[in-house]
Amino acid sequence: MKNVLVVGGAGYIGSHMAKCLSANGYVPIVLDNLDHGSRQTTKFGPFFEGSMNDASLLQKIFSEYPVAAVMHFAAFCYVGESMKQPAKYYQNNVVNTLALLECMVEENISNFIFSSSCSIYGEPVETPITEDHPKKPINPYGRSKLMVEQILHDFRQAYGLESICLRYFNAAGADPDGELGEDHDPETHLIPLILKTALGQRPHIDIFGDDYPTPDGTCIRDYIHIEDLAQAHLLALERLLTGLSGGQYNLGNATGYSVKQVIEIARSATNEEIPARVVERRPGDPAVLISSSEKAMKDLGWKPKFTDLEAIMETAWTWHKNNPNGYAP
Ligand code: UDP
Repeated sequence: MKNVLVVGGAGYIGSHMAKCLSANGYVPIVLDNLDHGSRQTTKFGPFFEGSMNDASLLQKIFSEYPVAAVMHFAAFCYVGESMKQPAKYYQNNVVNTLALLECMVEENISNFIFSSSCSIYGEPVETPITEDHPKKPINPYGRSKLMVEQILHDFRQAYGLESICLRYFNAAGADPDGELGEDHDPETHLIPLILKTALGQRPHIDIFGDDYPTPDGTCIRDYIHIEDLAQAHLLALERLLTGLSGGQYNLGNATGYSVKQVIEIARSATNEEIPARVVERRPGDPAVLISSSEKAMKDLGWKPKFTDLEAIMETAWTWHKNNPNGYAP
């Protein structure tokens, strides 16, 4: 059975995943409510428009397409928004995910791959962050991800639902073929906002605080290319399908770049000036997040291809240059 349900498969990460599944002999069945996803990206397999908490739609999909596993990308992902609207985050990221999991249990589907996040760790007490680092998220987004991880732990014990939680650091870049890219609405992520500034669509990039305890005062993040992320999901899927145990894995490059460094790299990739100005800190942002991904390399055999930000930026810039309006017609 090669069908995989990709919930949120019309979004940034989900669409790259659907393409990767299809390139590797699987059939991605995409379920997306298109609140944030783009219909244009759903060309790699059957598409269903709807919500993950719609049990009758899920039953219909599962009876039409018996699936080997479910991958879940349909979460809200804005740290800042989660601070202002926590109810929205707990409703979608936790309650709706619980509904999806309950439906899976009823339908005897026992393999689940979850988009978790480094935000479950909160302020690091040691760097690089390993999987057993204390989990003290400092924003509702991170708490919503941790809650699902805890639910998955209980579902494994009670119902035998096996799962792999992939804790992403900062997903970035675009499909090297140029077919897919990053287009959020509203856009809040650093790299696309910098590139929109390079395209002249924004007057400047705002740097959220330069008084963090880092060498240049701006926040440090670990950027991981979207294709490497998809590859890790594929390996996780194959691990579950061969009957090996699930678990939790960090996915990052073990290298940190400050906001100012990211802007500099974008300036050289684009040959544009990219005006920047420092503004207030964004609530909910830890100063430094850098991954240790050794466990994923060892257990999953994961080997990221895009290990420096220059290469990641290049793919992002190519897509933004060729699609200045994103997926908009
Ligand atoms: N950031 C920034 N200006 C922006 C957007 C983001 O300075 O317009 C910073 C943000 O505070 C964080 C880093 O860039 O330190 C990455 O933020 P992003 O929203 O891309 O990802 P997150 O780390 O929240 O997942």
